[in-house]
Amino acid sequence: MAKKDYYEILGVGRDASEEEIKKAFRKLARKYHPDVNKDDKDAAEKFKEINEAYEVLRDPEKRARYDQFGHAGVGEGNFDASNFGGFGNFGGFGNFSDFGGGLFDDIFDMFGGFGGGFSQSRRRGPVRGADLRYDLEITLEEAVFGAEKEIEIYRMENCKKCNGTGAKPGTRPKTCPTCAGTGQVRKVQNLGSMQFTNVTTCGTCGGSGSIVEEVCPECRGSGKSRVARKLKVKIPAGVDTGSRLRMSGEGEPGEAGGPPGDLYIIIRVKPHKLFVREGDDLIYKAPISFVQAALGDEIEVPTLEGKVKLRIPEGTQPGTRFRLKSKGVPRSKGYGRGDMYVEAEVVIPKNLNEQQRELLQKFAEISGEHVKPTSKGLFGKMKGAFGV
Ligand SMILES: [Zn+2]
Ligand SMILES: [Zn+2]
Repeated sequence: MAKKDYYEILGVGRDASEEEIKKAFRKLARKYHPDVNKDDKDAAEKFKEINEAYEVLRDPEKRARYDQFGHAGVGEGNFDASNFGGFGNFGGFGNFSDFGGGLFDDIFDMFGGFGGGFSQSRRRGPVRGADLRYDLEITLEEAVFGAEKEIEIYRMENCKKCNGTGAKPGTRPKTCPTCAGTGQVRKVQNLGSMQFTNVTTCGTCGGSGSIVEEVCPECRGSGKSRVARKLKVKIPAGVDTGSRLRMSGEGEPGEAGGPPGDLYIIIRVKPHKLFVREGDDLIYKAPISFVQAALGDEIEVPTLEGKVKLRIPEGTQPGTRFRLKSKGVPRSKGYGRGDMYVEAEVVIPKNLNEQQRELLQKFAEISGEHVKPTSKGLFGKMKGAFGV
């Protein structure tokens, strides 16, 4: 039996606007609705026909296929009108885009590569959530020994009010009528005997494949809300400025069932007031007097785990480094710790008193040094002032 023309069924012309098609459908659907035509087999059949025609003609893409290829273009035979529940329940057409599975794809296979992509142009698949970055400043001690820190991050989560649909609670997003849920719109163009297909993102739904008619007041339709989240971060011993810690799945949530992104914590170690880090080693500059440097001494130096004693040998030169084994940073790769280096910073005394000057001059004489001090000291200055 030949199928009736969809335009005829709805009683509209082939150039009817979307609005005219919608109006015609509503009028007929009301007339033939099973609820008002109980036990009327013809009315039920008619109602089914009307719905079938409308589902094709309301969709510009399907309508274009139908115009070009007739019933074959919209997957005749695959249509299952039994999905139509009661009136006003047309929202459930999530799989509409899978329609053309049979004949339609076959038709296009004949065109080879022209305007290809028909088989991949289904609804957009799951999209992984975005990765997030958090910059965390820690102390040197925390970097060396590891720490557990609590951080607060903001991330987009699915709106709790609407479960991420963006639709007002109690309503649900509809399959986009323009693209039938594919998120894409195609225009078939004939150029002589060749056919080309332009594929563009659907302007009605922005490519998402669904539209929200009544917007969720909480998220204003975005389906997302910015949520503060507290997270415990375990910082392993041995991290340094620039270290990245990945917290799997703590990024933004995915879309359409996609996995969430990751959270990357970027470490920055604050400068320490005593120690400078060089890789796994720590440098400490120990101020020592020139007498200590010359004669040697035992001094106390700080480490990350308290003070330790260090023997300075006599004749220590400025900049000499002494190694304190394994007092550095735990090696991030492998076992053990780096070392600490104590660097001798010889401090030259200033503002000597008379006695100190005399002793130093005497020291110079004994050493065979002929020193002509540029400053004569307090006593010398006074003599100069009186012109003696
Ligand atoms: Zn769309
Ligand atoms: Zn919402």
